[in-house]
Amino acid sequence: MIRTRFAPSPTGDLHFGGAWTALASWALACHERGHVTLRLEDIDAPRIVAGSAARIETDLAWLGLDWDEGPNMDGLHAPYIQSMRATKYEAALEALNARGLIYPCDCSRAEIAREASAPHAGEEVMYPGTCRNLPKNRAFKRPPALRLRVPEGSTVSFVDRIHGRVEQHVDVSVGDFVLRRGDGIYAYQLVVAVDDAAMEITDVVRGADLLGSTARQILLMRMLGTPPEAIPRYTHVPLVVGPTGERLAKRHDHPNTVRELRARGVTPEEIVGTLAFGLGLVENLRSRSATEVARALRPPSSWRRNPWRIPHEWE
Ligand code: GLU
Repeated sequence: MIRTRFAPSPTGDLHFGGAWTALASWALACHERGHVTLRLEDIDAPRIVAGSAARIETDLAWLGLDWDEGPNMDGLHAPYIQSMRATKYEAALEALNARGLIYPCDCSRAEIAREASAPHAGEEVMYPGTCRNLPKNRAFKRPPALRLRVPEGSTVSFVDRIHGRVEQHVDVSVGDFVLRRGDGIYAYQLVVAVDDAAMEITDVVRGADLLGSTARQILLMRMLGTPPEAIPRYTHVPLVVGPTGERLAKRHDHPNTVRELRARGVTPEEIVGTLAFGLGLVENLRSRSATEVARALRPPSSWRRNPWRIPHEWE
């Protein structure tokens, strides 16, 4: 049985991009009579907006996107709230540490940027390994982060259901990446790898902005002993953008949330039908319930690949 998830960060109301990825993962699971898990990614405490988790849940339900496992449910893989899963992240860190695969790093961002070669546009700065071979019990300049010692030759390839084969040399293009930040917060890469494996997710459907994170997450899953058949398949859907191609998060005086459309009287079926057609989930543009989308679902290989501009009526 397939198991998909949506994993919103409760940092504000459900925006079009969140609804778009939630619809795609929900429709894929429903089409194949699988299960959907809702996981709240509230690990980055300083960014959390109080009350937004409940509002996101309300908005998802209003769109007709429900879940089989999620917060406040006693599912097999509970808890479904990352802030309640610290023991699992700590256990993963300990397992890696016992094999000498973790080291503390007290470099600042500025120091790393200065030492690393300048990245190409859109690329991340590669960590140059400054602290890799320093003694672990030295005096630190600031509370250290913990980094993964990425083994030489860590090339990960996977087949994305929209983008096809993707390959990344993690040791060369990313370097030793952070698993726990200096402020004690577990890094996104770690928590997602631990949770997707622990929750037996078979299909990760999410935004294309995370395509470059996937190799790191697969590498971590492997290093934590996840068998190859338990590594999920990936489907990275394109981003939702404004009329001139700008990121929606940058538009402050225009609607970018489901709630704003709802307040204007737009129905869930209009939103779902428009998103489903935009994503290429279905062939024709008309109002539909989420269940109707799942019934008419086209395979991920024919879903949209490029960024999608919101329609004029939503501006
Ligand atoms: N929590 C992330 C977000 O809201 C999604 C992470 C993921 O799907 O892996 O953007």
